[in-house]
Amino acid sequence: SRDATSAMLERIEQDNVRFLRLQFTDLLGMPKNVAIPVKQAEKALTSGIGFDGSSIEGFVRIEESDMVLKPDLSTYTLLPWRSGEYAEARFVCDVYKASGSPFEGDPRYVLRRAMEDAAKDGYVFNTGPELEFFLFRMHEGRPTTQFQDVGGYFDLAPTDLAEDVRREIILALTEMGFEIEASHHEVAESQHEIDFKYSDALHTADNVISFKFAAKTIALMRGLHASFMAKPIYGICGSGMHTNCSLAKDGKNAFYDPDAPLQLSKTCMHFIGGLLRHAKAITRVANPTVNSYKRLVPGYEAPCYVSWSAGNRSALVRVPSPRGNSTRVEFRSPDPTCNPYLAFAAMLTAGMEGVREKIEPPTGVDTNVYHMSIEERKGAGIETLPGDLYEANQALLADDLICRAFGPHVVEALTSVAEAEWEAYRTTVHPWELDRYLATY
Ligand code: GLN
Ligand code: MG
Ligand code: MG
Ligand code: MG
Repeated sequence: SRDATSAMLERIEQDNVRFLRLQFTDLLGMPKNVAIPVKQAEKALTSGIGFDGSSIEGFVRIEESDMVLKPDLSTYTLLPWRSGEYAEARFVCDVYKASGSPFEGDPRYVLRRAMEDAAKDGYVFNTGPELEFFLFRMHEGRPTTQFQDVGGYFDLAPTDLAEDVRREIILALTEMGFEIEASHHEVAESQHEIDFKYSDALHTADNVISFKFAAKTIALMRGLHASFMAKPIYGICGSGMHTNCSLAKDGKNAFYDPDAPLQLSKTCMHFIGGLLRHAKAITRVANPTVNSYKRLVPGYEAPCYVSWSAGNRSALVRVPSPRGNSTRVEFRSPDPTCNPYLAFAAMLTAGMEGVREKIEPPTGVDTNVYHMSIEERKGAGIETLPGDLYEANQALLADDLICRAFGPHVVEALTSVAEAEWEAYRTTVHPWELDRYLATY
């Protein structure tokens, strides 16, 4: 509205903002932004700012490349590392076509549609992600895979040399409006986790993008590279983005029922049922890189089988112990290379089908699934997640529900990215092959 716009313009002036960054995300989940001097703010807030969408991954063909960015006013954030006299602020934007309708290839629009669909039944989808990442040393301006520390799970300084960096990242995020709930050294050397408070999935997805951007920026100021790659190093843990999910209705947690078995409501059980039914297709967007599949292997607390459990960390869906308003399910396959908008949209769509069709999940598996034999898993009806990007994309194409939720533009773009990526990987001769075969044959 007019009032909201003029209030925003006033705030921008009060904050001494000189540049505005208009941020959006391509299909790969890469943040893109257009910087504009503050003089353009009024135009940006009223009619949006045009840009050429043809060079953005997964966007449009040359002939129809005119796009318009419209800032979402609720996302106004000052960038802490650009403060003072020449402050900089950013807005997350929605992408529109020149014709004025929303652009089908905008991942934020895909998630908004899924949320609007759930809202028809009165539900708000809340997500709380746990992002893990490595801090690596830089060498001559390039990231290496050299650890910055040799700490382990919950270590304290001096083993955890990263305490200061982690603290600075947290301070910056807090200034940006994040409510940080916990942070700790993760299992692997130089690996960390910072958890922030859940929110509705749209704002959480915005937050995931900001989080990675802030962590990378602050780390770089310390000469380090914050890597969100899923499995940067063979033989040790990869980095996940466990996503805690819940539905709220009338302001109440709809997953909690004090009288039900495990105190989990029917809605919660059916949501799990939907997640498991569509788990393979969701994998395409929860785990979007060739490398993502090297994390989804037995032995590193990352899931590889389609199962759920009240406590077991080898399951795809785990139900953490808190109940009441904190009742939630933890979806453990996503990794931080995912496009959070698409991953959350797929999860919500799957979960909502479960709720609407009252899909009962199979019996929970409370033993370690990694230790079960193929026969035992078969007997228990436990399926395997896709083993590579190609297989995951095939699973997406076979899933009408998720394809419909994404729309043909997004499905086609995801398919061409997956196929090109897979073909490049499949035909490359990797160092492993040379080590193994060069001298022998
Ligand atoms: N790093 C593990 C993963 O890849 C998770 C470890 C944990 O947080 N328990 O998902
Ligand atoms: Mg955690
Ligand atoms: Mg963790
Ligand atoms: Mg977790």
